[in-house]
Amino acid sequence: MAGLYFHIPFCKRICAYCDFFRVADLRHLGSVIEAMHCELEEQREFLHDRHVRTIYFGGGTPSLLPPKELQRFVDRASEIFDCTQIDEITVEANPDDVTDEWVAQLAATQVNRVSLGVQSFDDDELRFMNRRHSASEAVDAVRRLQRAGISNITVDLIFGVDGFGCDVVESSIAQALDLGVQHISAYHLTIEPNTTFGRRKERGLMREVDEEQSELEFRLMHDRLTAAGYEHYEVSNFALPDYRAKHNSSYWHGVEYLGIGAGAHSYNGLERHCSEQSVAEYIAKREYVREKLSESDHFNEYVMTSLRCAEGISLGYLSGRFGKSVRDRVMQIARSWIEAGDLRFEGDRLSIPPERFMISDAVIESLFEV
Ligand code: SF4
Repeated sequence: MAGLYFHIPFCKRICAYCDFFRVADLRHLGSVIEAMHCELEEQREFLHDRHVRTIYFGGGTPSLLPPKELQRFVDRASEIFDCTQIDEITVEANPDDVTDEWVAQLAATQVNRVSLGVQSFDDDELRFMNRRHSASEAVDAVRRLQRAGISNITVDLIFGVDGFGCDVVESSIAQALDLGVQHISAYHLTIEPNTTFGRRKERGLMREVDEEQSELEFRLMHDRLTAAGYEHYEVSNFALPDYRAKHNSSYWHGVEYLGIGAGAHSYNGLERHCSEQSVAEYIAKREYVREKLSESDHFNEYVMTSLRCAEGISLGYLSGRFGKSVRDRVMQIARSWIEAGDLRFEGDRLSIPPERFMISDAVIESLFEV
């Protein structure tokens, strides 16, 4: 089963930390949507697996679109692929787009999951990040979706923001729990060079939080959410039972996906491609940067995505797919991590205990083939 991703690269306001592919000039919105319909047609042969199980509208800000435009993409996809077994269609939404009217229209579509870019339930922190909504607007958005019968809601939260410590993180978690959302994605802030935060950092006006503070906030997230019954199933993701993100999980399990839109990535098991074009170039003609994956790429990808998930690496799969010598090399390197308690070895699997996910990058890099 494959996935479809639609990238809507428009935002009314640029957040201070954001280095995603997005533009603040909305004039091309209509032309981009039509170009995306053309691209869906042009790329119809890219996926080997014709059965689509998940669709994801990401951005940018897909909630800038009227929900009937989202449904138009779903309808077109259903003409091209077998979409009879779809079980998750997600749209990312900015809380201040989630009006009564938008929600009523959304309820009439096949979208059954909403990912709200909340980031924080603290007004000062929201202003600091240049978000365009307030904490109370985020609360209202969740309640409005719930009243309309959307029963699969995820919120994004950001932690590790200098100047906003554990108290702010704690109150954001408490508010999310109080709202009873089914899923929470929690990302540590990274200050990227081409962002407002990056420029502030360069001028000495802002810094990354230190390692000790990062660890404290990460543990706070992990402890509070797991105590409340959420499974910490991926480095940045927590879900109530049966509410893991199906679309995103498929990225971590090597499932094929087709990304449509300027800046979207695609993968079909053999090749990855991405249209790294400006919006204007994308409207005129779709062009891709293509990458054929080597055996080392496949191995590194498997190690990285598996160890970021609670299930970890299957040693049987490693032997079968990459050979016994590769499995033996992994086990040899893993030994010291196991002794330190940073890797767990149970049955056929090597995994990072979720409370140690913070150090996953170091474990993963040590296992990479170069
Ligand atoms: S809404 Fe999302 S994509 Fe747009 S600027 Fe903010 S973080 Fe970036």
